[in-house]
Amino acid sequence: MKLVKTVRLRSVNLTKKKYEEIAHVINCFKESVNFLINKCIENPIFKNPSNKGNGAYDYSSYPKIRKNFYFEWKSRFPDLHTHYCHSSARITKDILKSWNSWCFKEKNRLPNPKYKKNSMKVEGCLCYLKENYVILVIEPRSKLYIPYEPNEYFKRVKTNKYGEITLKMNTNRKVDIFIPFITAFEEKQPESILGIDTNERSIDMLFLANDRTEFMSIDVSGLSTTHYTYSLKRKQIAKKITNGKKYQPKTKRNLLNKYGKREKNKCKDLLHKLTNQILDVVEKNKSIVILEDLTDIRNSVSRKKNSKRMRRRLNRWNFRQFQTYLEYKTNRTGFLVSYQNPSYTSRRCMKCEKTTESKSHKFVCKYCGFRVNRHFQATFNIVNRFIEHQDVASSDSAERYRMKMMAGELRKFKESVIGDASQYDRINGINPLLSP
Ligand SMILES: [Zn+2]
Repeated sequence: MKLVKTVRLRSVNLTKKKYEEIAHVINCFKESVNFLINKCIENPIFKNPSNKGNGAYDYSSYPKIRKNFYFEWKSRFPDLHTHYCHSSARITKDILKSWNSWCFKEKNRLPNPKYKKNSMKVEGCLCYLKENYVILVIEPRSKLYIPYEPNEYFKRVKTNKYGEITLKMNTNRKVDIFIPFITAFEEKQPESILGIDTNERSIDMLFLANDRTEFMSIDVSGLSTTHYTYSLKRKQIAKKITNGKKYQPKTKRNLLNKYGKREKNKCKDLLHKLTNQILDVVEKNKSIVILEDLTDIRNSVSRKKNSKRMRRRLNRWNFRQFQTYLEYKTNRTGFLVSYQNPSYTSRRCMKCEKTTESKSHKFVCKYCGFRVNRHFQATFNIVNRFIEHQDVASSDSAERYRMKMMAGELRKFKESVIGDASQYDRINGINPLLSP
């Protein structure tokens, strides 16, 4: 398993000559990417034969870009090392691919993309680390030594393996250097499953092992309260400043920045505490963590049927940040994180598997009348979905056996919850999951 941590370093003050030389290369790189973009865009050789997916063109292969235009590129940029062509082709591919999918999404042809950044990401043979220098190869056999100042973070995460380095122009004759360091971790066999459902005021988890199932809930209302308090504060500042003329826009910006930073730090701190708490469970029980795939949540949150206030509330909670922290920490201990599609997880009835809309934290199925805590049901469905999508023909027999045991345990647990529910009317509060 690999983990990537990107370190940002700053070069020391460079001589004017060196600085200009780097600026020149970055400019050439920019030109070279734009040159390739213009060559490729709507070029018949990229026509999509199947005409499926994102429209009529397919730009997903960077060797194809490189091969087709290499000679033209070489005559245009004769001084640059050949590998600059490869690196530009790779960037070109990324830009065209996302442009293509944007055109497809908007159902319209957008204006041609352009590479405007004052930075470049180049292959390992063009830019690498050596002692206290970053070495940049411009032409074959001509190297540029860029001295840098190592910081604490760099010293901590530095490894011998790293990905492609990015160089970015900074003012004052300095260059920013971004190095993605790669650390390898030994992957461990999980012995249990921890399904996590993120909600606005709580994080709910279902723990499943061979022989037991447990539902846990952590209160995270502190996070939304913090966001709410700071949003009020920001509103107050904005109001005060527009009323009093003596305040300058600069003061407003500074004040808002100050509170914004405080809010960010406070939430970061809360998220670290929260993820550490969950990590304890993961480490102790050797769990694989199941999270909801939230890539589309912002889109679904902004759907028209949600009110403006609701949208703002949902967008403020840093679901994604929470997941990033948790994933990083889990991987560091050697366990994996798996993402599952979260659609309908809280709405699908555990008993009859039909979907019912539910507004409160109580779920009542309109088809079979089954009642349950909605958050619990969501975690159940997430874990269940993970188990259903497991490879039944896994080559590892021990893993196959463990999965089978866990699937059995989950079924037993489900039956007991449903069984309790059937007696719900007679014995009230028999199961805490049923009477929220
Ligand atoms: Zn039902």
